[in-house]
Amino acid sequence: MQSLSTDITDSKAAKKGSSAPLKVVTHDQFCMEKVPDPCGIVIFGASGDLTHRKLLPGLYHLFKAKLLPKDFFILGFARSPLTDTTFREEILAKLKTKGETDSPVQKEFLNHIYYRSGQYNDPGAFRTLDGILKEFGEKHGTKGKLLFHIATPPDVYQDVISGLKHAEIIKRTKETDVIIEKPFGHDFDSAVQLNRSLHEALNEKQIYRIDHYLGKETVQNIMMFRFANSIFEPLWNRAHIDHIQITAAETLGVEHRAGYYEKSGNLRDMFQNHMFQLLALIAMEPPLLFDEHHYREEKVKVAKSIRPIPAGKIHDFVVRGQHGRGKWNGREVPAYRQEEGVDPKSQTETFVAMKLFIDNWRWEGVPFYLRSGKRLGHQATEIAVQFKQVPHSMFPFLHSDQFSPNVLTFRIQPDEGISLCFEAKHPGPKFCMATLGLEFNYKDVFHEPSMDAYERLLLDAMQGDPTLFVRQDMIDLSWEFVTSILKEWEKSQPAKFPNYEAGSWGPPEAHQLIEKDGRKWEIL
Ligand code: NDP
Repeated sequence: MQSLSTDITDSKAAKKGSSAPLKVVTHDQFCMEKVPDPCGIVIFGASGDLTHRKLLPGLYHLFKAKLLPKDFFILGFARSPLTDTTFREEILAKLKTKGETDSPVQKEFLNHIYYRSGQYNDPGAFRTLDGILKEFGEKHGTKGKLLFHIATPPDVYQDVISGLKHAEIIKRTKETDVIIEKPFGHDFDSAVQLNRSLHEALNEKQIYRIDHYLGKETVQNIMMFRFANSIFEPLWNRAHIDHIQITAAETLGVEHRAGYYEKSGNLRDMFQNHMFQLLALIAMEPPLLFDEHHYREEKVKVAKSIRPIPAGKIHDFVVRGQHGRGKWNGREVPAYRQEEGVDPKSQTETFVAMKLFIDNWRWEGVPFYLRSGKRLGHQATEIAVQFKQVPHSMFPFLHSDQFSPNVLTFRIQPDEGISLCFEAKHPGPKFCMATLGLEFNYKDVFHEPSMDAYERLLLDAMQGDPTLFVRQDMIDLSWEFVTSILKEWEKSQPAKFPNYEAGSWGPPEAHQLIEKDGRKWEIL
C-alpha cells in the first residue's frame, strides 16, 4: 500500500512545544476524486444569492481542479430577464469578489454557461426548456444526463417539480436526478406533501435533499474520527460519557433574510436539519459500510430513538429566545424586532436550547444539550463530548470533583479542528495540577484549503452518490419531533420577547436548563 508521508514541522502542535513534528501520513490512493460522467446541470433560482455565492463559484472551482467532466453545460433558469452575456458577466463579477482573477480557464468555463428566463408555474416555459436541454445536450455531448438543482425559495419547489414532470423532462431513471435545497417543508405535513410530489415524478434514488453541513470536511471527519480509530469507540457510551453538547452560535443577525426567517425561526432553520444531523453523526452506531444505505440507515435509527418530549413538559426541555439590542465587537447592534422586514411584535425565536435523550443501550440516561442562536457571544459550531469525572481521587487535598472532566471537542466551524483536554502535573509542588489541551487544527496541519461543502455535494450528486444527502425518513422523523415542539409553543402564552441581549449567550433559562443538572455550557 503506497502512502504519502509529510513531516509538518511548522504546525501549531509543534510550535506549542511537542518535541517531534506532527507526522501526517496520507493514504493517497484514497484521495483520488473520480471525475463524473458527462452531464448538463440546470439551476432553478439562478438569479439568486445561493447560485451566485455558492453554486457557480463551487462549480468553477471543480472545473479549475479538472473535476468536472470534459462534456458538460450549466443552464441557469429564473424569472429575471437576463441573457447569457449578462449572466456570465454576473458570474465573472462574483468570482472576482472571491479573489479569482481573469484567466483562460474562466473564459473556457463561461463557454459552458447559459441562462434562460421563464415563470416557474408556466407549462409552456418547461416545454421550451425541454427543447433547449436537448439542443445543449447534443452540442455539449452530455448524452441526455441531467442534474437539476432547485435553488428557488421553498414555495416554488413544487411548481418546478410539476413543470419538469409534465414536460417529461424528468423521468424515473438515473439520467435525471434532482437536488433540492433546504428548507425541505416547514413542518411535518408540508414535508410529507413535498416528498409525495417528488415521488410522483422520481424514484427516491434520484432525489438529493441537501443539508450543506453534511458536505463539510469537519462534519465528515466525525465519521473518520469515530470509526477509523479504535481507541475512542470503547469509551463512546453511557458508561464513560457524562453528556454531549452541540452548539451552533452565530454573531450575525437576520441580515437580508427577514422574509424567510420570520416564517421559519431558529427551530425550523437550524434544528430540523443541521443540529439533528450533527446529533445523528455523534450518536450513531458504526455502519456496516460507509455507503448510501448503511450510513443513512444508522442516522435514521438515532432519529427514531430520540425520546419524545412529554406533553406539558416542554419548558423542562426546550427554551426559546429572541435577541434584543446589545453590543457585539464594541459596536451597537439592533434588536431582532428592529431589523428591516421584521414585525415589531414578532414572536419568531432567534435562539433555541434543548435537552434530549436517546433511548437505546448506548445512550440511555446521557443528556444531549443542543443550542443554536443568532447574535450570540461569538461564532462557533462545536460538539463537545464530556467524559465522566474520575470516580475517586487518590491525591490528598483534591476532591474528585475538582478534576476537570476530559472534554473532546469537534470544532466544525470556524477554526476547524479537534481538541482533547486532560489533567496533567503542573511543574512545582507535588499536587499542583493543570488542565491541558491536545490540539489538532486543520489549517495548521493540512495547508491546502478544504473543499467547500457545496462543491463536495455537487460533485457527489454528479457522481450519483447520495450518501451525504438526507433520506426521506430522516426528514420525516426530524420534522415530526420539531413539529411536536411547534405545536406546544402554539398552545402556550406568547413568549416574553426579547429575552436575551445581543452579544450574550442566550436567555437565563438556557443556562438554567443545563445548570439545574449540575453542568454548564462549554462555550460562554
Ligand atoms: P433568493 O431569495 O435569492 O431566491 C432565488 C431566486 O428565486 C431569486 O433570484 C428569484 O429569481 C427567485 N424568487 C425569489 N422570490 C420568488 C418568488 N416569490 N417566487 C418565485 N421566484 C422567486 O434565495 P437564495 O438564493 O438565497 O436561496 C435559494 C434556496 O436555497 C432557498 O430555498 C434557500 O432556503 C436555500 N438556501 C440558501 C442559502 C443561501 O446562503 N442563500 C443557504 C442554504 C439554503 P427570479 O425573480 O429571477 O425568478
